[in-house]
Amino acid sequence: MASVRQIMVGGVPIGGGAPVAVQTMTKTETANLQPTMEQIRRVADAGADLVRVAVPRDQDVEALRTIVAQAPIPVIADIHFNYTLALKALDAGAHCVRINPGNIGGPDKVAQVVERARAAQTPLRIGVNSGSLPKHLHALEEENPVEALVSAAGEFVALMERLGFEDFKVSIKSTSVPNTIAANRLLSQRIPYPLHLGITEAGTKWSGSLKSAVGLGALLADGVGDTIRISLSTFHAEEEVKVAWEILKSLGLRQRGPVLIACPTCGRLQFDMDSVVAEIERRLEAYDDPIEVAVLGCAVNGIGEASHADFGITGARNEGLIFSRGKALRKVPQDELVDALFAEIDKYAHSRRVVVDERESSEGAAWLARIEAENADQLTPERLAAMEAAAADDEHADTELLDAIRPSEAESPVAGRRFTRA
Ligand code: SF4
Repeated sequence: MASVRQIMVGGVPIGGGAPVAVQTMTKTETANLQPTMEQIRRVADAGADLVRVAVPRDQDVEALRTIVAQAPIPVIADIHFNYTLALKALDAGAHCVRINPGNIGGPDKVAQVVERARAAQTPLRIGVNSGSLPKHLHALEEENPVEALVSAAGEFVALMERLGFEDFKVSIKSTSVPNTIAANRLLSQRIPYPLHLGITEAGTKWSGSLKSAVGLGALLADGVGDTIRISLSTFHAEEEVKVAWEILKSLGLRQRGPVLIACPTCGRLQFDMDSVVAEIERRLEAYDDPIEVAVLGCAVNGIGEASHADFGITGARNEGLIFSRGKALRKVPQDELVDALFAEIDKYAHSRRVVVDERESSEGAAWLARIEAENADQLTPERLAAMEAAAADDEHADTELLDAIRPSEAESPVAGRRFTRA
């Protein structure tokens, strides 16, 4: 269930129907001002709406005042154990302070932090982690870890409400993806406050991104979650921001910059797609327009599946085609494909329209038609998918025939001739 309440972290609305905010956390020693500010500027450039900094010592809270003044995005102070640091972080102007009411020293200390936050009109984040549940919930945790997490969050929310404070968001995090999903689903049904989502200690860039995409994606697809952080074991916080954006873009929740789509490749691949796609992805980072760019590994299927793309390329052995919105733009030598693609994207960026040279377009369309005709009998993944979709729509379809014509690897026309990447 989506949150009802909305809070403001600096100028960024969280919850109550606002766009899902992307946040990350600096990896530097907070008191080390220059690298901390450099990292904050990098994550802001990468699209972070909010940034969190760890404040474990007095020298960090001293640096916080400067960080808040200079940061291009709102700053959240992350406090553990020491409530006096939470009070000082509020005094230093943090746009939000994250505390875990279970480890900050008891309800009276929480009340002092709440009073200071109320006076400063600064929101709090109430964080609950599976690793730091209150003692009285340990038995329940053994039996039902999801209920234990949600109960802990519910108790902290009740404490805030008893203190007459409602300017907060809540996070319950676990290293377990299924528990994170189940706990946040349950919590979203019980409280109206905004939720921050994350998978604790998700892991490396590869495994952590996947775990986060599965866990946060399942929740966000259901409308649960108002701000997200991808926790990755990397010193480059901007990588967390990029992953967060890919998750939001893939769900159609927010738009930022181009979307790259690429075929999965198969034995018909006609060029070194790994390096071409990587180069296109890297170069697209410099663009802000939410255009869709497609890369097809061969021209055997024409450009049917990518005909909605704003721009795309497909290649044969020595030549390739640039296309736009289903129309051929021009044929170019294979090694010029990427530069030619970006030349077309740049033309669009300047004129806001796709420039078509009809002669070059006709030449490209004829080249494509010839390749399609020469390969009309190939059972490509796209053609198999189209046949399966047609069969699913047709209750009289001969599924046995479909099974019979699907080639085995040994019978594949490209067996033994598969493209080998360096
Ligand atoms: S047949 Fe499809 S998956 Fe295979 S290389 Fe061509 S476009 Fe890519």
